[in-house]
Amino acid sequence: MKCACVNLPFLVVSANTYFFMVQAQGIMLRDNVRTIGQMIRLYTNKNSTLNGTDYPDGTNSSEYLVQPTTYLPENFSYAQNLPCPERLPSMKGLMEVNMTEIPMEEIELKFSKIFDIEFGGHWKPKDCRPRWKVAILIPFRNRHEHLPILFQHLIPMLQRQRLQFAFYVIEQSGSQPFNRAMLFNVGFLEAMKDLDWDCLIFHDVDHIPENDRNYYGCGQMPRHFAAKLDKYMYILPYSEFFGGVSGLTVDQFRKINGFPNAFWGWGGEDDDLWNRVHYAGLNVTRPEGEIGKYKSIPHHHRGEVQFLGRYKLLRYSKERQHLDGLNNLHYSPLVSLSSLYKNITVDLHPELAPIADY
Ligand code: UDP
Ligand code: MN
Repeated sequence: MKCACVNLPFLVVSANTYFFMVQAQGIMLRDNVRTIGQMIRLYTNKNSTLNGTDYPDGTNSSEYLVQPTTYLPENFSYAQNLPCPERLPSMKGLMEVNMTEIPMEEIELKFSKIFDIEFGGHWKPKDCRPRWKVAILIPFRNRHEHLPILFQHLIPMLQRQRLQFAFYVIEQSGSQPFNRAMLFNVGFLEAMKDLDWDCLIFHDVDHIPENDRNYYGCGQMPRHFAAKLDKYMYILPYSEFFGGVSGLTVDQFRKINGFPNAFWGWGGEDDDLWNRVHYAGLNVTRPEGEIGKYKSIPHHHRGEVQFLGRYKLLRYSKERQHLDGLNNLHYSPLVSLSSLYKNITVDLHPELAPIADY
């Protein structure tokens, strides 16, 4: 996230969000004319929808292949030895989102009993061969009330999409500023010890998808799922925005050397990931239209710090890409299983990812 704002702890609403919205309006007017133009074209000429993204980026020709837009009929019959389709009749579109806080025990009971989730949060479809084995990685510290809300929405959606999945909650202990990106790297390395996952979803705990056609499988290119956030008035704040929820295949993630480890505190790590993806010759796709909508659980930023060094680091994304990431990371995790997820707790500090000063 690029926001150059300051935290005002006395504000009840998130200061970041408030300033971001003000800034987003400025960006919209000044810089995002291209995006607005694309949206107008999209809404005025629905037949010209391209490639599964509203916001075609770059000139990669594979971006512009026309995709089928129809979903399979209700009476579609599955076969255990055939791959599950991507456009299933069970995916109905917009879902109801309920932000009411709910005890984790209630959710655990419901999903392990009725929804058949294995202890540890693993599930796979039985009537077809899952197209993707998806590890959902959730960076976490002190947002306990958000987790059950996320599970309540995500689990039924992923089951309707007939994906194989498990949840990894990577929790930062200790007193260092939060490091979302390093947590994702730890989560990736730990998840790969469990199973040969082929798709990774990097998921903020407070982002609730609104549309079950937002298919959490991977693709030829990295994907930005959270294209339209209610907190940004459902408008992409800037065309390189890659925050909230994103997904890469294991191969793509290894190719870009994972996330940077050097972003301590709020902001910038998602922009650096965007840079890494593009320096590796890859592109980003996004879901089209209403499919990429998310609601974010309101929260404050009390006690959290912004990462002011992010602008400098972002200038050297390219140079740092092969020095800082999966290849310089050391950590000692505490791993435990609960009903719906695996918890990986790590105490992070900068010495765990040594790098020459950039
Ligand atoms: N996060 C967390 N605890 C924190 C800060 C961040 O669990 O103290 C995780 C959480 O998954 C959250 C994500 O990191 O959704 C992104 O952080 P945040 O929500 O603060 O960013 P913003 O929504 O302001 O962009
Ligand atoms: Mn948030």
